[in-house]
Amino acid sequence: MSDLFFTVDVFKKEISIFRFSSLTVHHEKTLASKFTFDDMIYMSEDYVKGEYQQKMQEICNLMLKYVGIEKSKNEKIMDMKARLESEFGGNVLAIICLSILFRTYQAQRDHLVHLDIFKSFKDGLTNKITLESKSKIENKFKELTKAMETLIKCSENTFQQIPESTFISDNGYIFECNKRQVSLLYSLNESIDPLIHIFIANLFIGNLKVFTCKSCRKRYFSNADVGYCPAIKCQEVKDKELRKKNRMNRKKNEYTNLSDTFSNYTRQLKYKLTLIGVPEDVIAVYDAEKSSCLYNVKMQISTYQDCERPIDDDLIRYIEEQKGHIKALYDSLSKQKGTEQ
Ligand SMILES: [Zn+2]
Repeated sequence: MSDLFFTVDVFKKEISIFRFSSLTVHHEKTLASKFTFDDMIYMSEDYVKGEYQQKMQEICNLMLKYVGIEKSKNEKIMDMKARLESEFGGNVLAIICLSILFRTYQAQRDHLVHLDIFKSFKDGLTNKITLESKSKIENKFKELTKAMETLIKCSENTFQQIPESTFISDNGYIFECNKRQVSLLYSLNESIDPLIHIFIANLFIGNLKVFTCKSCRKRYFSNADVGYCPAIKCQEVKDKELRKKNRMNRKKNEYTNLSDTFSNYTRQLKYKLTLIGVPEDVIAVYDAEKSSCLYNVKMQISTYQDCERPIDDDLIRYIEEQKGHIKALYDSLSKQKGTEQ
């Protein structure tokens, strides 16, 4: 029987599920699954829709039939568990629930699944933490503090120390220490509760709330309403909208518009020079003059913009002069090229 553990990374908004082959010195840890906080919403929405609940209820009923049977029938239970695991292989929650069910069966409990775990799940996701959930979180933290204290007092009786500094506590926590960090893995073997409560606690720590994506309408976790969920498709829509907005703002600004028009004009002339095959060193001469004119124009415009002085004939005349200057240079450079041929 493998052991399931999880870690929560509030910065990456990720939950990782690990399997340990056994809690011995030579344990093997494998990543069983990884999902984001947002995936938790989708999983709970699946649950709310009833499809998932129905399937889990079917499993519960099947498992119930075997509760209290003699040891000789254990093989059947193992077969069923293997079958269900392969059927629900892609569904992390189902695997966790199966693991809980199996352990519960082993303990010969009357109630196979605490269905109220799904209620806590929903409460956490709607940002409405019930008093019950709150006290559960507080208790969880008390428990964690206690486990931390135990780690500090770490003795050979309470922990087995494993090479690469992994500590396993009697009460089901695993601490992993490496050069970068100390991480705590929580056990999922007895119940899914720790996952729910630590997940909800992390929503508080990260000050995360649920928002709806403007593009795909899916819900996502974030500190603030950023409009779009992190899906690549939706981020592309967001970028597009942003570019459109910037373009509109630029158009609205008559000062910027004036300098953009001048800049476009000089760029067009340069393009024409390259088209007729003017050599690069001549283009460089044009570029230097172009930059100088553009600088002059921008400076002149900014003196107007800074004092919010309306655009007048003087400014327009100045820009036209600069235009004339750069056009004269263009004419002479293109003529030079013409006479060469
Ligand atoms: Zn989206």
